[in-house]
Amino acid sequence: MSKRLTIIGAGPAGSMLSILLARQGHTVTIYESRPDMRITDISAGRSINLALATRGIEALKAIGVMEEVEPSLIPMYGRMIHDEDGQTSLQTYGSRPHEYISSVSRTALNSVLLDAAEATGRVTIHFDMRCRGVDFDQNLLTFTRGEETVEVPFVMVFGTDGSASAVRESVLEANGGQLTLEPLVHGYKELTLPAGPHGEFLIERAALHIWPHKDFMLIALPDPDGSFTVTIYLPVEGPGNTFEQLVTDEQVTDFFAQHFADFAALAPDLTAQFAANPLGLLATVRTTGWAFQDRAVLLGDASHGVVPFHGQGMNAAFESCIELDRFLKEHPDDWATAFAAFEQSRKPDTDAIADMAVDNYVEMSTSVVDERYVLKRALALEMEKRWPETFVPRYGMVMFSTVPYAVAQSRARAQGKILDQLTAGIATVDEVCWETAAALVADLEPLPS
Ligand SMILES: Cc1cc2nc3c(=O)[nH]c(=O)nc-3n(C[C@H](O)[C@H](O)[C@H](O)COP(=O)(O)OP(=O)(O)OC[C@H]3O[C@@H](n4cnc5c(N)ncnc54)[C@H](O)[C@@H]3O)c2cc1C
Repeated sequence: MSKRLTIIGAGPAGSMLSILLARQGHTVTIYESRPDMRITDISAGRSINLALATRGIEALKAIGVMEEVEPSLIPMYGRMIHDEDGQTSLQTYGSRPHEYISSVSRTALNSVLLDAAEATGRVTIHFDMRCRGVDFDQNLLTFTRGEETVEVPFVMVFGTDGSASAVRESVLEANGGQLTLEPLVHGYKELTLPAGPHGEFLIERAALHIWPHKDFMLIALPDPDGSFTVTIYLPVEGPGNTFEQLVTDEQVTDFFAQHFADFAALAPDLTAQFAANPLGLLATVRTTGWAFQDRAVLLGDASHGVVPFHGQGMNAAFESCIELDRFLKEHPDDWATAFAAFEQSRKPDTDAIADMAVDNYVEMSTSVVDERYVLKRALALEMEKRWPETFVPRYGMVMFSTVPYAVAQSRARAQGKILDQLTAGIATVDEVCWETAAALVADLEPLPS
């Protein structure tokens, strides 16, 4: 039966979800706090571009928009590591040609989804409407639009209003659920490495660049106009290298000259950018109680926000939309059961990617230049070539497969022990004992296809 549904937030999760719900025959109204990004030049939000990987691509294919997204993608085949002397080395992401991630503009991707939502003929989007809360007794949503307060009746509401979700507050109050916010000591600032005089890329286009410095790091993703969006991750407060200590132009100039000289040389207006661009804070969002009866459910960053170091927040949000759609189809007449089953099935996976995203900071900022890590990574890729059904490095399981995140996490632990054992006392992959490797791999269960 067709239902009248309300979605709060037209970000990646809300816009994708609206398309899936419209396809089920429902009528959907979305309320979004910001102006329409397709006609107003607003900041894309928390990051200008994002890494899109297999989980996100599969979801975009499922709703039939991949062809529209494809032209905006810039493939990144590996991590380009910039060492302290300005030397670079590429660590490819996978062992097979299709194993790359893509840089995509947040605005371009979200705009494709908004267009596709409206094209269903069943989705209406109201912009500049900030939800302030949900009254489940009166079935009313409260919004502010400029100075005005507006109340709108609703039947069923989907909270896709991001990590500071207003819907979440009302849902958790109604169902007694819990929010856990795990803030990170690191904050971030985005900077631009401009294109060259003829619009050319000044550093390698087809890679995600990393300047690893253990306690802080710089990363860069390519943009279609030849520039790179560069993000500095640095502790927010305290002595030493922190945002708090980078106040004057001189301090900023010295910091970048000392640690990121090759980048600084290519970004002439660095101090102006650093002063002008906002400092973003990062936290993991975990929630119990994603739904209230059959009347509200949370999805995306609103219920499971992760830190950005695995490039999976949006990919996970897309995958959650597909999962929720599946449960709604399984229980078409009992959405309370569908919502509960969705949370029960999905939460172990979103908790797993939250943990792996935190772990990946260490991998990106520190391990990539560690000899033992480089050896184990080379071995893991070689083992994947030999036993592709059984041994897949964690990065590959997370980024290039749809193996449930919780399976990827526990499998990676088991594989990590094998890598430790096989690399003990050796310096190169040529020295690995392949009979032992084969025996250890034989003990692993096959991975879900
Ligand atoms: C620096 C950084 C880099 C990242 N890089 C990646 C990456 O490479 N790959 C990746 O997969 N993920 C990445 N992420 C994570 C990704 O941005 C999020 O996981 C993703 O945007 C979540 O989508 P969402 O729709 O749930 O929430 P959001 O993107 O936050 O969208 C929520 C929407 O709701 C609107 N809204 C908010 N409050 C209200 C309200 N009260 N009323 C009405 N509307 C409201 C907002 O304006 C917004 O449009 C990154 C995040 C950060 C911070």
